[in-house]
Amino acid sequence: MIKVFKFGGASVRDADAVKNVVKVMNLYGADKIAVVVSAMGKTTNALEQLVHAWYYETGESNHILSGIKSYHMDIVRTLFPSSDHAVYSGLEEIFSELTEKTGTIASDNYDYEYDQIVSLGEVISSKIVSAYLADSGVANTWIDARSIIRTDNTYRDARVNWETTEEYVRHSMDFNTTAVFLTQGFIGATSENISTTLGREGSDYSAAILAWCLDAERVAIWKDVPGVLNADPKYFDNTVKLDQLSYYDAIELAYYGASVIHPKTIKPLQNKRIPLWVKSFLKPEERGTIVHHDRAELVVPSFIFKMNQALITLSTRDFSFIVEKNLGDIFYQIDRFRLRINVMQNTALSFSISVDMDERKVPGLIKALEEEYAVRYNTGLELVTIRHYDQETIDRVSSNKEILLEEKSRHTCQMVMRDLSVLCD
Ligand code: ASP
Ligand code: MG
Repeated sequence: MIKVFKFGGASVRDADAVKNVVKVMNLYGADKIAVVVSAMGKTTNALEQLVHAWYYETGESNHILSGIKSYHMDIVRTLFPSSDHAVYSGLEEIFSELTEKTGTIASDNYDYEYDQIVSLGEVISSKIVSAYLADSGVANTWIDARSIIRTDNTYRDARVNWETTEEYVRHSMDFNTTAVFLTQGFIGATSENISTTLGREGSDYSAAILAWCLDAERVAIWKDVPGVLNADPKYFDNTVKLDQLSYYDAIELAYYGASVIHPKTIKPLQNKRIPLWVKSFLKPEERGTIVHHDRAELVVPSFIFKMNQALITLSTRDFSFIVEKNLGDIFYQIDRFRLRINVMQNTALSFSISVDMDERKVPGLIKALEEEYAVRYNTGLELVTIRHYDQETIDRVSSNKEILLEEKSRHTCQMVMRDLSVLCD
């Protein structure tokens, strides 16, 4: 049976981290594994800055590019002391491509240009990790994800063509010939071989796509945390690691912003009941968290915060009721601005939504809605989503907060809140 392993940016952020990948792989020496790697460390952010600087001609693009190059070359020099190692010429080629590209004039399609450049972070990373694994005795075949993950041309948020992808993945990853294949997360290509990306943090999703295509036995995501925690340690002490989680709970938590798993990851796995293991790359022997087909309820309430929310409340100007026809128009506008509703609530006279604040889209939406409705809004709010809530957890997360909106279903409680301690400072 095949396993799919995903190593994210943090697990390949420097030479020691790459060496640690070998350690993890050696624990599974006899297994058939498809390895998915992300760009190293914060490379994707740096490449985003490069695209921005080049596209808007800020004059910083050469500087940003040389920073990206020296970061990688430092790692490479540590991993491959011999300067005639083939990895050097391979990387030189990619960096020349980047230099050349950022020396031309950009087309007017920002998202297209973004994908052509940002996708290379994963290509670079995968070349380095593949070569280092091979040198360390983990024989592997490098595969360009753009030749197997086929998508439409929605740049920066490409949709997978499952049928073609399944065919190409099965064809390219023949585990009868090789035990380990290594490829990139986050990227794919259109039927015309134009590079695309699957959305930020999309490498988990890539792993799930491969697992689905290969009918894998399991997916393991190797992280710098011991597993999925019931809350973000950034905001809370005394978090607990969850030993297991149902697909449903994982989707709910990921959808509302838990950053451990990319929200799109779970569906393809759930569809074929492939378990997902979230494990620590520093303590690979430990159990981590298993996300699987199990309706057993979470034993502890889990909660996630989404900061920087805008709460928008609409009412009709003539005090008539908000009826289905209004809701249709309102949803149409929200979709037109490509905003995503995190929580909503309606009463006879008003309708409220909370969305992630976006400096460009939110004012645009408000302006469009004001043509028809009286609009009130608040920004700088937080949304907490509690899965399997109890009163104690509600009290705990809302202490010193003003609750502006609360929605409860049987398993989930969501509150949009204003942090009062900030006001007192
Ligand atoms: N490198 C990409 C990102 O940082 C994809 C990923 O890491 O999952 O968004
Ligand atoms: Mg990442």
